Amino acid sequence: MNLQLIDTHTHLYGNEFTKDIKAVIERAENEGVQRFYLPAIDSETHDAMIQLEADFPGKCFAMMGLHPCSVKDDYKQELALVADWLGKRAFKAVGEIGLDYYWDKTFVDAQQEAFHQQIEWALHYQVPIVIHSRDSMADSIRIVREHQKGSLRGIFHCFTGTLEEAQQIIDLGFYLGIGGVVTYKNTHLREVVKAVSMDNIVLETDSPYLTPVPFRGKRNESSYLKYVVEKIAEVKEIPVEEAARLTTENAKKIFGA
Ligand SMILES: [Zn+2]
Repeated sequence: MNLQLIDTHTHLYGNEFTKDIKAVIERAENEGVQRFYLPAIDSETHDAMIQLEADFPGKCFAMMGLHPCSVKDDYKQELALVADWLGKRAFKAVGEIGLDYYWDKTFVDAQQEAFHQQIEWALHYQVPIVIHSRDSMADSIRIVREHQKGSLRGIFHCFTGTLEEAQQIIDLGFYLGIGGVVTYKNTHLREVVKAVSMDNIVLETDSPYLTPVPFRGKRNESSYLKYVVEKIAEVKEIPVEEAARLTTENAKKIFGA
């Protein structure tokens, strides 16, 4: 089978991959994954991310942003570094940015401030945003809505919310990033995927996390995108090739061809 896939969210620059990154990319390419979009976390990994992009030109593409879980006491400094990078060169997106109330609620106000600020930068540079939202969907949707005057676009990455939330996201002109969770035994996500249009879905692995069945529990890598697209095709009752083609077209609309 000759699929053409895009992994819209993969942390291949992480320590988990330093030993075998060439083989990881090669395995993914053998499964049809042509592009890898790299979401930023914070200044600890910016250099590794940008180096990976340089090592695989035309294949790996960096985003820039401050992850909500990295919004700590020093977040103003971190945001200043993000601003510097955005001013220095072009990035494919501002991401990953957003709100995470699951791990720690100490910095909720700062997370919201950082989210607002980074959305404004994305609007300024006319690039999409990639959103991380955990236990915070209502606030995330509200903040995106506040900034949506027609030109804001992007992805709610690793979407696992309700159909109602999916609908609100789609109404905002945003896409749902669907990953390994769609293959898990106990998930309502398949019903959501079944109910929404393929026009609003992009594929992601979130490597090294959220590994799909049958490798759940092991390190995730972009070649496993195949299990995600196969499951989506099964749920939508369409050929895998069509699910691949449609999600790839969507990713190109977001990030550019
Ligand atoms: Zn991520």
